[in-house]
Amino acid sequence: MPRILTLGEIVVEIMARDVGQSLGAPGVLLGPYPSGAPAIFIDQVARLGVPAALVGCVGDDAFGRLVTARLAADGVDVSAVAVLPDATTGAAFVTYRGDGGRDFVFHIADSASGRLGAAQLSPQALQGCTHLHVMGSSLFAPGIVEAALRAVAQVRAAGGTVSFDPNLRQEMLARAGLKAALRQVLAQTDIFLPSGDELTLLVDAEDEATALQRLQALGVREVVIKRGAAGASCIHAGGRSDVAPLAVEEIDPTGAGDCFGGAYVACRLLGHPPEEALRWANAAGARAVTRRGPMEGASTFTELAALLGRVPAPAA
Ligand code: ATP
Repeated sequence: MPRILTLGEIVVEIMARDVGQSLGAPGVLLGPYPSGAPAIFIDQVARLGVPAALVGCVGDDAFGRLVTARLAADGVDVSAVAVLPDATTGAAFVTYRGDGGRDFVFHIADSASGRLGAAQLSPQALQGCTHLHVMGSSLFAPGIVEAALRAVAQVRAAGGTVSFDPNLRQEMLARAGLKAALRQVLAQTDIFLPSGDELTLLVDAEDEATALQRLQALGVREVVIKRGAAGASCIHAGGRSDVAPLAVEEIDPTGAGDCFGGAYVACRLLGHPPEEALRWANAAGARAVTRRGPMEGASTFTELAALLGRVPAPAA
């Protein structure tokens, strides 16, 4: 049986109720909702019934308990989530612009999440792990980069596979050494899940075709391109698959990429071929945007099947 592990930030999200509202206005705030890109990813994996575990840190506070309780209830193994008595759980604040964009204010680097380090990668945390998923957004502190690289090395040494979603935010790119760390992860990645210009950015390519050649030369065997409301594509050993977006009403786009990634990786680990995994992932991303709150739209196979109008097929 596969077991998927990820590591990184565990936070709550507090958001504006409607598009165009600023967080400072009275009656605008909604939340806290469980969040953090790796947490959303792994929650989606667990909702699909695949064994899932998360390594991270929370404070000994109500926000930390809110997220870990949700993850545990959805089936994620949170035994390697450290509860730190002298730190607070991180938070992200989101507003929605009229042009479809979002603005974030993060309290993460100085939160419990920033204290994640390689020491947390105990043999118990890694035990039975057949696949590791790395989020670029998690690599915001040297200790976390070290932990991620060590986890990649250990999982690969044990015969496991690695997936990588850069999940970059513009302000992160200014951080010294981040691009080099992301490239180190990329060079050991089996499944790469970029969106927007992340495909070309990390391999310094001018266009998609050049980027794909360079990724293949690095040994990346599957590239899954997320295209928001335009669907998704997958370039794999058997060729190329594209999937059109499902028609849904978008309520809250945050978390779509993480749910998409969780579903794609879970399906591949269950033995589904890339084009089949892409269809489930496309549905997971689409369903995620129909729910307010980044983790609220993580789906079961039954929910995805209802959206796709087909019988659920949890195992290939
Ligand atoms: P985020 O970082 O906000 O989680 P992302 O950029 O990583 O997002 P997206 O490309 O926004 O990821 O979304 C992932 C996938 O979810 C898309 O490739 C698509 O399959 C699906 N999806 C996203 N938005 C929509 C939408 N409005 N309608 C239908 N499907 C969508």
